[in-house]
Amino acid sequence: MFILLKRRNILIGLLAVALTVGLCFAVSATATSAYSVPKMGKTIIIDAGHGGADGGVVGVTTSVKESDINLSIARSLKHFLKTKGYDVVMTRTTTDGLYGMTTKNKKLKDMQERKKIIEDTKADLVVSVHCNSYPRHDQVGAQVFYAPGSEDGKQKADAMQNILKATLGTERNAMSGDYFILQCSSTPSLLVECGFLTTPSEEKKLVSASYQEKVAYAIFTGIHTILGEEGV
Ligand SMILES: [Zn+2]
Repeated sequence: MFILLKRRNILIGLLAVALTVGLCFAVSATATSAYSVPKMGKTIIIDAGHGGADGGVVGVTTSVKESDINLSIARSLKHFLKTKGYDVVMTRTTTDGLYGMTTKNKKLKDMQERKKIIEDTKADLVVSVHCNSYPRHDQVGAQVFYAPGSEDGKQKADAMQNILKATLGTERNAMSGDYFILQCSSTPSLLVECGFLTTPSEEKKLVSASYQEKVAYAIFTGIHTILGEEGV
């Protein structure tokens, strides 16, 4: 009995040592990767559209909420940007809206909060992530919007749209759009409609994690191109 117990203690001890060593390696690997990415010195604000009480567009066959797909793509985009050395600020990181405990005018409070985050951050670019809708169920394609009358916005949106055309196969062109987020600050801003949740074939793609990552990577490539960096 004593020998058995002793043997078991030795085994537990060895296991503890192995776990500690493994943990040390994991921590040092994390620390190494965190410090080995050279900083780009550029900050991107990712705005996942909608959230909380405002779910946005509803998927035509799955009833998926646009707000959830936007957040998923936004998180993936953040990952790609951080890996490349960009600083990233997210307007929302959870499924909640940004209206706090407000019970009235939630949408207004939510948009004011997004504006405040953008104004308080010295960013190089704001990218708002959305999914589109249309009364007919036959519209497809990701599309980039820029602030009306902004020549700089048009150039950036065209560059982003070209990447989306090449990687996602959309045939749409960039357009100006009367969206609050594009006009609420002096920071260059784009809004990407990642596809139509009202078209079953596109909804099917948009709900899949692999397509969400593909869209996120396309937007990341667009951002990297817009900011004049090479070698994505
Ligand atoms: Zn939306």
